[in-house]
Amino acid sequence: MTEIDLKAKARDAMANAYSPYSRFKVGAAILTEAGNVFTGCNVENISYGLSICAERNAIVHAVAVEGPGMKLKEIVVTNHNENGDSGACSPCGACRQFMIEFSSPSTQVTYPGESGDVVTTVKKLLPESFRF
Ligand SMILES: [Zn+2]
Repeated sequence: MTEIDLKAKARDAMANAYSPYSRFKVGAAILTEAGNVFTGCNVENISYGLSICAERNAIVHAVAVEGPGMKLKEIVVTNHNENGDSGACSPCGACRQFMIEFSSPSTQVTYPGESGDVVTTVKKLLPESFRF
């Protein structure tokens, strides 16, 4: 699976986003160490705090299928802002913490930046993650 395929899958998932409140559609596609691809989109709720991001949606699906040993190899996020502003947006703090739980130091994440896609690692996005 190449990054381009993951981006296409993220876009497909994004088309199914339920985002009537923010009008900000997000799609995520993840490749697991086992070689499976899972996708997710953001699903908002009128009780805003119940909304879930595309990244966590995809990870939850991956765990449901592969089990608690699921490990992330790569994550690609895409979005479309129906409000017309830039779509540049890095994963939120909750998703960063959620991603790192299932990541290795080399797990790659790609997201839309101000001047094209940003490719980095989950570890760089959240160098001091919560642990106990
Ligand atoms: Zn998030």
